[in-house]
Amino acid sequence: MSLSTPVRVFDNHAHANELTGLGAVEVARRFKRAGGAGIIFVSLLTWSIGGAPGDRGWVEKLYEHTVKNSEAARGQGLISGAVVGVHPAECVKLRESGWGEEEVEAFMRWTVDLAARYVAEGRAVGFGEYGRPHWDVGPDVVALCNRVLEYVVARARDVGAVVHLHLERRGEETVRSVAEIARRANARPGTVVMHHVEPRVAPLAKELGLVPSVPVGRRGEFEEALGLEPIYVVESDYIDDNRRPGAVIPPWSLANKIRRAVERGLASESYFDQIYRNTESLYDVLLHSSV
Ligand SMILES: [Zn+2]
Repeated sequence: MSLSTPVRVFDNHAHANELTGLGAVEVARRFKRAGGAGIIFVSLLTWSIGGAPGDRGWVEKLYEHTVKNSEAARGQGLISGAVVGVHPAECVKLRESGWGEEEVEAFMRWTVDLAARYVAEGRAVGFGEYGRPHWDVGPDVVALCNRVLEYVVARARDVGAVVHLHLERRGEETVRSVAEIARRANARPGTVVMHHVEPRVAPLAKELGLVPSVPVGRRGEFEEALGLEPIYVVESDYIDDNRRPGAVIPPWSLANKIRRAVERGLASESYFDQIYRNTESLYDVLLHSSV
């Protein structure tokens, strides 16, 4: 099998953190060396960069950190954009620490408005990761997260942002509930990304106007995804944390896995090229502006 034609690879969802791992420059350098072409950096948790939940100043620092990561990737010759926002885990932490529901909701809405400003100013391409905890938190927190989520999608439509959603993995039920929220918020089709989605529900997500983003590192799931039409995008979900090695794969492993899949004849180059182009059109703004 020929190794001559490189397959273009776009990692749709990754994190970098020089405080716990390699940092964006080195992550980007390694990804590029493995054949990577594009990478989207998403905000971590406020406390993963040393902040405290519920602190507006730390949210600003978090967004700046994410923007810097994508600038570092561009400095290494990659296509890159920042997705800025506050993780649903922050809602859970704040409720646990005694914040009232309304207080948490007002705070989260503020973080969305701040993210909207970043996108409007051309410093970020999307909001994320917002959504719902993937662990059991009780119906009140879920309802709170859903209200935030609807606001996220509505604001994204206003400023032309892509949205990365962190969700529980309850298959069809999860897909339908997100599609319903997107419909209520009048989302633009093809801009709401289901991050870390199960391949088996990717076709349904696509059919309902959502963007399925398949994690390549999860055992067996990449292979499962290869049985689908190339209707999805791929992600490493790398967290760049030395204390949690192996939790997810690094972006360069994603590039290597894709190259090997082509070499072994599991999928064609044109199959992966379509996946690359799906990501390209998702971040249209990145490619046709100075961002
Ligand atoms: Zn993530």
